[in-house]
Order: sequence, then C-alpha cells, then structure tokens
Amino acid sequence: MKRLEIKDLCVAYGGVKALRGVSLSVAQGQTVMITGPNGAGKSTLMKALAGVVKPQSGQIFLGGHDVTGLSAERVAVAGLSMVPEGRHVFGSMSVLENLRVASGRRRDKAQVLADLDSLLDVFPMLKERTHVQAGLLSGGQQQMLVIARALMTAPTLLAIDEPSLGLAPKVTDQVYESLHTLQARNQLSLLIVEQSSARVVMTGAHMVLLRSGQVVLEGSARSLDAQAIEAAYFGM
Ligand code: ATP
Repeated sequence: MKRLEIKDLCVAYGGVKALRGVSLSVAQGQTVMITGPNGAGKSTLMKALAGVVKPQSGQIFLGGHDVTGLSAERVAVAGLSMVPEGRHVFGSMSVLENLRVASGRRRDKAQVLADLDSLLDVFPMLKERTHVQAGLLSGGQQQMLVIARALMTAPTLLAIDEPSLGLAPKVTDQVYESLHTLQARNQLSLLIVEQSSARVVMTGAHMVLLRSGQVVLEGSARSLDAQAIEAAYFGM
C-alpha cells in the first residue's frame, strides 16, 4: 500500500521552474529520503506536498486520495504531518503542553495517552523534561519535540524538512536513531529531506536525489555507487 504517490509534479515561482516533473512514492512503513544540492527543489517539494504552494501540473495522492492543490489544513486532515525546517516549538509552553496541543482534535483519548507514553519512551530526554519550557530546550531536544509533536496527530505520513540543520553530528545521530526506532515500532511512513547525501547513505534508506528540479538518481542508499551519487549531486 502506497502512503504517498507523487506523479510528474511541476511547480514554478513566476518564471523559475523549481520542480520539473518529479515522481516518487512512499510505501507503508518505508523511509524515503530526498537529498540534493542548494536550489534542487527539496523544500518546494515539501511545500507542494503540504499544500503551501500550488503545483502547475502533476498529482499528489495521500493514502490513495488525490490531495493535489488542497489547502494545508485539508492535506493535514488527509493524514500528513509536516515538520518544517526550523524547529518551531511553542516556546512558552512546557514540553507536555506542546505534545497535548497537537492531539487536541483526536477523539481516541485512550490511544492519545498510549501514544504519548510510547513517544516519551522513544525520546527519554523529553520524558525527563516534560515540565520544562520548550523554549529552554537545546536545538536537538527541540528537534525531537517537533517530531514527537507531529506524531501526536497520528499521521499516516510524517514528512520532515532538514531535521539535522544546525545540529552537531552526534545530536543528528540521536535524532536519526529515534526516527529509526519509531519507524520500526510503528511501521511509520517517513519522507525526510536531508541535504547531506553522506547522511542519507548512513541511514541506508531509499534515496531520491534531486537536482535542478528533477530526480537524477534513485535507489537504496546502500546499493548506489558512491561515485554515482557524487556525480549526480554535483552535476558532473
Ligand atoms: P535549499 O537547500 O537551498 O533550501 P532546495 O533544494 O530546498 O534548496 P528550493 O528552496 O525548493 O530548493 O528552491 C528551488 C528553486 O526555486 C531555486 O531556484 C530557488 O531559487 C527557487 N525558489 C524557491 N523559493 C522561491 C520563491 N519563493 N520565489 C522565487 N523562487 C523561489
């Protein structure tokens, strides 16, 4: 079952063609990582998926439903939870309040409590700080909080834009370890933008390499040839 299917997506900002016929899919329980150099179109792809920018052409299906061109709110209702770049926590609220706010619309209250327990198990550094003001957390802790908060909406697809941006390598390792645990425990379907192709190779996930708005290389990060990745990334 495909959680996400993007077909031949084109997005332009005025005369600038940011995406030129991008197709990709994420299966149930699969992690797909999008990488590529500056200006490749990675953030545009996430914005189009989230309903923030309208595609010129192409289609986006979430769990089999056509969500192309729908508003951000309706795409969220269809099952997408997006963690945008920049770790936007509610700084004056506690860690626990940040997590509770995200589940406000859910009616399955017993499952909400179970999800909260399970997430705090995966992120022990949040569990130790449930009453700490979120604005006082470190960058890595805030990144974990925005991921946990996104999961409290019980999405069918979690999309994360640049989770490692501005984090030390060791902290980035912790973030990816937590994501790996979550994915294995809950059969999560994940779409992650990661500028570092080396990091994508380390995760061994399915890699989609974008350049100039097009997919130039795709496959299991472990099986792709390192030189082919470098050539595609730098356009050699
Ligand atoms: P980066 O890693 O630098 O953020 P990216 O791969 O996320 O790059 P995008 O930000 O999606 O790439 O940009 C793709 C192209 O669209 C670039 O040529 C960029 O200059 C252009 N672009 C992005 N946002 C806008 C905008 N709001 N108006 C005009 N052009 C834009």
